[in-house]
This record gives sequence, C-alpha cells and structure tokens, in this order.
Amino acid sequence: MIVLSLRAIVFYLMAYQNSLVYAKQLDREDPLSYLREEFHIPGDKHGKEWLYFTGNSLGLQPKTTSKYIKQELDDWANFGVEGHFEAKNPWLSYHELLTDKMAKIVGAKPIEVVVMNTLTTNLHLLMVSFYQPTKTKYKIIIESDAFPSDRYAVQSQLSFHGFDPDEALIEWKPKEGKELLELEDLKSILDVHGDEVALLLIGGVNYYTGQYLDIKKIAELGHAKDCMVGIDLAHGAGNIQPNLHDSCVDFAAWCTYKYLNSGPGSLSGLFVHEKHAQRKDLPRFAGWWNHNKETRFNMRQPFDVMEGAEGWQLSNPPILSMAAIKASLDIFEKVGMDALLKKSKQLTGFFEYLIHQIASDTIKIITPTHPNERGCQLSLQVKNADKNLHRKLTENNIITDWREPDVIRCAPVPMYTSFEDVYCMVKTLESLL
Ligand SMILES: *Cc1c(COP(=O)(O)O)cnc(C)c1O
Repeated sequence: MIVLSLRAIVFYLMAYQNSLVYAKQLDREDPLSYLREEFHIPGDKHGKEWLYFTGNSLGLQPKTTSKYIKQELDDWANFGVEGHFEAKNPWLSYHELLTDKMAKIVGAKPIEVVVMNTLTTNLHLLMVSFYQPTKTKYKIIIESDAFPSDRYAVQSQLSFHGFDPDEALIEWKPKEGKELLELEDLKSILDVHGDEVALLLIGGVNYYTGQYLDIKKIAELGHAKDCMVGIDLAHGAGNIQPNLHDSCVDFAAWCTYKYLNSGPGSLSGLFVHEKHAQRKDLPRFAGWWNHNKETRFNMRQPFDVMEGAEGWQLSNPPILSMAAIKASLDIFEKVGMDALLKKSKQLTGFFEYLIHQIASDTIKIITPTHPNERGCQLSLQVKNADKNLHRKLTENNIITDWREPDVIRCAPVPMYTSFEDVYCMVKTLESLL
C-alpha cells in the first residue's frame, strides 16, 4: 500500500508553477476575480495600485459603501427623527438587517448574533456575564502572544474582581523554541489548574502567527473543567469558517474592519451560544436597547431583558457605521464563505509555494502548513532583517505589516487580491533580500 504524506497530497493537488504567465492563468480561471473591481484599491501618487497585503489590519473599501452611507444621510436629511420608522431601512431595526448575513459568516444561528459596540467593549460586556469568579475558581487562560488589547482587558477584569493578574492570569505558551500553540499543552494546563480556572479567552486565529486553532476542541477541554470558553475572532471573521454554533463555545466577538471591510473603527460582531439565549438570570449590564422591543418605548416598565445575543445591547447603534457593514455583508452574502475559502486556500497555497521557491534560507514561514490550520495570512520570519526591509517593500508599492523583531505579516485577501499580486510581491521580496 502506498501511503502519501499530507504534504505530498497537498502538493499533488496544488502543483503550482513559478511564473507570471501561470499566475495570470490562475486569475483568468478564478471565478471570483471580478470582485477586485468592486473595491477601491489604494495606490501611490502616480496612480499605480498598491499590492495590498494588510486586509487583516484594515480591509479595503467596497465601491458600494458610499452609496449605502449616503442613503442614510439622505434619509436623515429628509426625515429627521422620523427616519427611525420612515427611512428606506428603518433605523429602529437597522441592526436586524445585518444579523442573518453575519450569522452565516461565522456559522451561527441568527438568535446567537448581533452587531454592536466595538470589539474590546464587547469583550468586557461578555466577561461581565461569563466571567463569574469565585474564591477558588477565578483564573483566566489566554494564549501567550494574545493581542495586547485582549490581554489588557483580561488583566483589568481580574483586578476589577480583586485578583492579582500576575497570579491569576495563565498563559498557554508554545513549546520551548516553537512558535505555534499545541492543544496538548492547553490540556496539561487544565489538568493541573483546571479547578481554579473560570474562563478561557483565546484568539481563534492568532494575529501574529496566523494560526487557526481548533475552537471546538478548546471548548471541549474547557467545558470538561467547568470553565467558560470565549473566542476572539478579530482575525477569523470573514477569513475562516469558525462554525461557532457547532463549536459550542460560550461566546465570541470580532471587529468588522479587518476581513469584513467595514471601515476604520467599525462596529463589532458578538456571539452568545443558543444554550445561553434564554438565561435571563445571567449577570449583565443593561440599557434601553437590551430591553424587550415590544415595550422599550413605554420607558417606565421594569427592565425586561431580550432573549439571545440582542440581550447584550445597551445603546441605539450608529447607523452610518452599520450602513458600511451592510455594504460589505451584502458582498459576502452574494459570494458566500465557501467560494471565498476555496479561493483563499488556493491563493495562500500559491503564496506559500512561491516563498519556498526563493533561493535563500533567510525566510521561514511561521504560520501552520496545513490549510485547515490557517486563514489567508502568512507570517514570514526573515533572518537578520530589520524594519528597512519593510520600508523597501513599501517603497515598491507593497503594503505589509511589520512586527518586531523580524516578522512580516502578509494577508492575500481572496476578496480583492489577485494571483498576479502574489507573484509580483514575492518576486520583489526576493530581489530585496
Ligand atoms: C484588531 C484586534 C483588536 C482591536 O480591538 P478594538 O476594540 O476593535 O480596537 C482586539 N483584539 C484582537 C485579537 C484584534 O485582532
């Protein structure tokens, strides 16, 4: 019997070629290549388009966004306060227009999802409900290179409840000399400390390495020790399919300005698993927007919290930002995550292949090799490099993200990056090494 290694199978399925002609052929065969035309691609002052590899930081603007925002500006001009009912998309229920589409993107049921606030704010609101420490069960586990905002949020929650973050924060670290996290190490931590742990708050796709963790397994491990499990999907939403409902994680949150292309500082998506939808007893903060919609405007009723994710809202939301989200989600709805993920795997596979063709041993890809353990981002570690390399890439119209001491994060976003972009990027990088 012939046993093929995974690498051999992947190589067999994706036997790429190292040429511009071939890259252009992939673009011609790409059923999603038309999408690039639907985005504003920034460029230099001579009008030459940038090769944009930072959609993981700020996604590009759909050409339809201004039309969607203008609709709301016009309705505001024409209707004033009556726009809450009379606008083409009445503002009172505007957020409901986003729910189904957002739910599909993250694999959730509509009752589990709402768009509101910004990401870090939502993490705090979710911890109000899902971080309920006791004297003996109060610790929080995060991954060792968690995004700084998440770390600060968790540290401040611990302090707020009277615990010492140095003692109560447990880091899930890669093994000595490695970059990637392994589930067996999380299991070991839980075997030893599980009884003292109240919450796991983990980045589903790590912002630095691009590693996509098995969140269903994480939920199983955490729940086996009676811990709550929350996932930050800032680098996951629109990039991978986390299947949030089936994963059984308790809660999740993500921003919409990275892969979801909704503009700087745009609102966050929030997920609370259906199993908590009816739990009106959960501690939470309140405002008029998580009060029962039917009686919200009677104003003097005792507080009556809504079911599902909407029961975490506080305020009436910013419609102009939601209009930008709607513009983007309508594109996701049209294309579908399945088609996007298919292209994403091919595009990132091509990128990886070309990097491996570089005749120099200075580059190492720290992102996982297996396509199911990453999204589109590849993090390239460049031996002896300094920020000059990043500067030179930028001078060559290639926009990437530099992380000290020696990592370039690059995200070929399937929505608007071409195979030719990827080819030209790698050729330029090679020439600069
Ligand atoms: C981008 C990002 C944030 C940013 O949070 P905001 O509240 O939107 O400023 C937080 N956490 C992670 C993991 C991120 O990738």
